[in-house]
Amino acid sequence: MSIEFRDDDEEIDTSVSCSSCDAVCCRLTVLVMPEDKVPRHLVARNEHGLEVMARGEDGWCIAVDHHKMCCSIYDQRPGICRKFAMGSAYCRSEREIYREQVARGIPLAVVD
Ligand code: SF4
Ligand code: SF4
Repeated sequence: MSIEFRDDDEEIDTSVSCSSCDAVCCRLTVLVMPEDKVPRHLVARNEHGLEVMARGEDGWCIAVDHHKMCCSIYDQRPGICRKFAMGSAYCRSEREIYREQVARGIPLAVVD
């Protein structure tokens, strides 16, 4: 682990990289806000009536490029995705949850 602090005091582990990650943060619920410019066919409405990024049966956001395990709409991704910091505590926590699921052979499912 190699910790640095951003200007807003968020603790970042600079040894973490999206290039060696299965885009596990893209299994989380992503709210789509009115100012977001997401292609409409990728947007769904959840049980609370809120607009969210649609997800596939595997639980990953429908916009994930499964060959490269990265965002296929990077320039149009929602603001909430833009704010999710690589190496942040939230990122590290999702990576740890995923690692445990894989290690224990737990079927991967939608994460809320
Ligand atoms: S932000 Fe974190 S959890 Fe998301 S793809 Fe990058 S390394 Fe993985
Ligand atoms: S829009 Fe892109 S960055 Fe956001 S969850 Fe979907 S695939 Fe991930």
